Amino acid sequence: MKPPEKEAPVPKKRLFGTNGVRGRAGIDMTPDLVLRIGIALGSMRNGTIAVGRDTRTSGEMLLHAIKAGLLATGCDVVDCGILPTPALQYLIRGTYAGGAMITASHNPPEYNGVKIIEPDGTEMGDEETLELERRIAGPSFTLQPWQSIGKETSAPGLVSRYIDGIVARFPDLPGTGMLVVADPGSGPACATTPEILRRIGCRVLTVNGTMDGTFPGRLPEPSEDGLAALSDLVQSSGAAFGVAHDGDADRAVFVDENGRFVEENCELALFARSICRTTKGYVVTPVSSSGMIETVARESGCTVIATRVGSINVARTMHALIREGKTVVFGGEGNGGPIFPSHQFCRDGGMTAAMMVAILAAEGRPLSALVAGLPRRVMIKGKIATADPGAILAEIAGRFPDDTIDRLDGLKILRGTAWVLVRASGTEPLIRIIADADTGEEASALYNEVSAIIEK
Ligand code: MG
Repeated sequence: MKPPEKEAPVPKKRLFGTNGVRGRAGIDMTPDLVLRIGIALGSMRNGTIAVGRDTRTSGEMLLHAIKAGLLATGCDVVDCGILPTPALQYLIRGTYAGGAMITASHNPPEYNGVKIIEPDGTEMGDEETLELERRIAGPSFTLQPWQSIGKETSAPGLVSRYIDGIVARFPDLPGTGMLVVADPGSGPACATTPEILRRIGCRVLTVNGTMDGTFPGRLPEPSEDGLAALSDLVQSSGAAFGVAHDGDADRAVFVDENGRFVEENCELALFARSICRTTKGYVVTPVSSSGMIETVARESGCTVIATRVGSINVARTMHALIREGKTVVFGGEGNGGPIFPSHQFCRDGGMTAAMMVAILAAEGRPLSALVAGLPRRVMIKGKIATADPGAILAEIAGRFPDDTIDRLDGLKILRGTAWVLVRASGTEPLIRIIADADTGEEASALYNEVSAIIEK
């Protein structure tokens, strides 16, 4: 008998994570690294590359570096200035040969990074990223001679096309008579989300509404504790809801009319329920999303397709299903990252804020009542440090012989309607655990079973 062939090891990305490359500005994220990224990207592309940045203090420095690299390889560059990542994605799709966004998304102010955007507006996938990394690490580059160096155009006004594109989806002005508070977190959505909301009829108040790369009001991560100012203003003003973005405004999270934070899986389920009630088809979400999504989709006759964790996996699966002729109505991650396929195949905080207005107008009930009407589900999340996550995952798999195991991403152990997901972190020596069930008892039982094995 022939011995089983050894599988070739899957090459691992070293520099880039799930959403681009990130590091501390001037320490790991230096102008020379970003220059190399620009040259590497430029050597993979022909034509015009659109670039932009969030409001970080290191943004200008790194934007110049990426532009220099792209121009040196002969690519032309359109500088869109400060704008949300989804705005750059919207502008790129079908118009440019790709893009680069200087942002560290939700990371603290001292961080920065680069997200590479494909010509179709999605973030660069694994295969292309590996090729990009090979070129970044490569020994030498061929730069263009003086006659062939690229040209730069400054186009800060292009962002208005993105705003117009969203506003045009809501011609009946669903925000009429609705007061909303927006917290763009001093990020690029200061120039987009309040305007989008106003133009679809809302009256808008803002918190952290002035662009400022020192983030004086709150950190770029829109965590529940950072949103006290938003919460207070929603309550004192009598607003219908408050919306907050992360540092590059691809994510949007909400507080209800009482100033209470809407847990992100509830947010995703709200959108899924509302969309599935009117349109039938597939809903795409990672294996880590709450069972709530499955329940609300099934109630309306829609089918959930699970993907690996990461919004890029959701976006690409949605794309692939549509190419196969399937109807995909909705997708997204339970971290404030819904994806509306009729708009674009990426998370978009401004679009998400506008959709919330439309849902509230259509339902005619306060946001807190909509959240209260969702199926009850309890999710417990945690992480445990361990030297060899791979070996532990194999050990865990053998300990659950009576349960169904799904290996799409890590190990998902399903027991009735409850499940526990165990995944090795891609960047740190630790294991992440998520347990999700109808009751707190079931969720903690599964969580404890798994964590006991890991801790041994
Ligand atoms: Mg982000």
